[in-house]
Amino acid sequence: MNEIEQRLAELEQLGLTRRLRLVSGPQGATVLVDGKPVLLLCSNNYLGLADHPRVREAAADAAMRWGVGAGSSRLVSGTMTIHGRLEEQLAEFKGSEACVLFGSGYLANIGVIGALAASGDTVFSDELNHASIIDGCRLSRAEVIVYRHRDVEHLDWSLRKHARRECRRLIVTDSVFSMDGDVAPLSAIAELADMHGARVLVDEAHATGNLGPGGRGAVAEARLEGEIDVVVGTLGKALGSYGAYVCASEEIVRYLINCARPLIYSTAPSPPAVAGALAALSLLRERPHRVQRLRANARLLRGALAAEGFPVADTDMHIVPLIVGEPRTTMRLCQAALERGVFAQAIRPPSVTEGFSRLRLTAMASHTASELEMAAGVLGDAARAAGVEPEAFIPALSERHEEALEPVSEPGLAYAETSPAPANGAAAPFDLERHLDEADATAPAPATAGAAPFDLERHLDGAEAPAPALASGTAAPFDLERDLQDVRAA
Ligand code: PMP
Repeated sequence: MNEIEQRLAELEQLGLTRRLRLVSGPQGATVLVDGKPVLLLCSNNYLGLADHPRVREAAADAAMRWGVGAGSSRLVSGTMTIHGRLEEQLAEFKGSEACVLFGSGYLANIGVIGALAASGDTVFSDELNHASIIDGCRLSRAEVIVYRHRDVEHLDWSLRKHARRECRRLIVTDSVFSMDGDVAPLSAIAELADMHGARVLVDEAHATGNLGPGGRGAVAEARLEGEIDVVVGTLGKALGSYGAYVCASEEIVRYLINCARPLIYSTAPSPPAVAGALAALSLLRERPHRVQRLRANARLLRGALAAEGFPVADTDMHIVPLIVGEPRTTMRLCQAALERGVFAQAIRPPSVTEGFSRLRLTAMASHTASELEMAAGVLGDAARAAGVEPEAFIPALSERHEEALEPVSEPGLAYAETSPAPANGAAAPFDLERHLDEADATAPAPATAGAAPFDLERHLDGAEAPAPALASGTAAPFDLERDLQDVRAA
């Protein structure tokens, strides 16, 4: 056995083998998984914009006008008018002086942390921060102090203990935690940073579009717009596309353009992805009640799960962890739910701490009330079929009120191993060719053809403006006049 076979066998034995599940058709509230229609309850397409007709049209139109790829990094020839336009819009939306796009949220976090902290500096990081933050901390070579989850006193203690004047200090936190769905105490963190002369980076990946006035995020909800040094966010979740942004002062953005390696050494975001995000942002601004719909759906899902006996907090947060503990039971539960028509992916170590494997449920604005109620019932049945009563699930960390642990003050000590397990296991679990054939045969018609697989607008008040016609039908793929107008407008 070579070391790869050995590692795969070990993962298999631990119940930690991963495989890719193939979803056919667009990312609606219902999708086809392995050819079967199921309710999607684990997507970050929170507002239902990834498959919205206007977002699709914008991306398709951009592909015809500007092409598919940016062709090079931002600093060579890859900065196009459309990048500038989205950066302006995002800066305005997030109430910051400036904004710069990155290839993805993962790249943004490793880029920004690496630019703001290096060997000799100190980063203070919440123990439940996302893997991209953890990896950013590791790559930066700074000393990393992991403070207990949302524990302001522990952060304060850590800042006092590591108060070397000559080093740069950076506090890093998710605003909405990706696996637990709770919110960081941002006002207290900002205050501590001020007091101790540290910078703050807040990752709004799960908050932008979902929280705060008009979906402007948790920073806006805490009335801290313009007061957090760096706000990172992704275009890949509520904004329905791919890519990421960093909002900060004009000076920090200029610094990142010069010093953030993933921005310097990686191809600029593609025009269709940027245009899709622009369209999603304008939809969000036109119709902010999508956010209220998401919050109401989250509350409804949590209520229905609580009625089934699951220990979920009575909040309106859209990420709902159902923590089983043991990875194999979690996989059995996931499979049982899937067989009953609900797709809620199992999340196991290293994505979460050992002993806390879970289904990570997510509400979307595009779910109906009856879908969410049905899902809660299915999950109750599936839990019992997998051999766990809903009452035996573990509450989320912020609900557990555990005994305080010893503070962790050594670099990297509290970090679980985060290197991802290989995606597919030893044997190919699915036949891609077969699935592509099936997908083509069974995928719902795209919304642009008139029959949307799920019509969110039906569930929201009023009608939307009709989607603009595809440029390809009316204009040449490259239209110099329109591009020149864009340049003048930019
Ligand atoms: N930050 C957080 C909190 C996340 O949950 C994620 C994605 N899961 C990212 C960053 C990475 O974003 P992206 O998918 O755009 O790389």
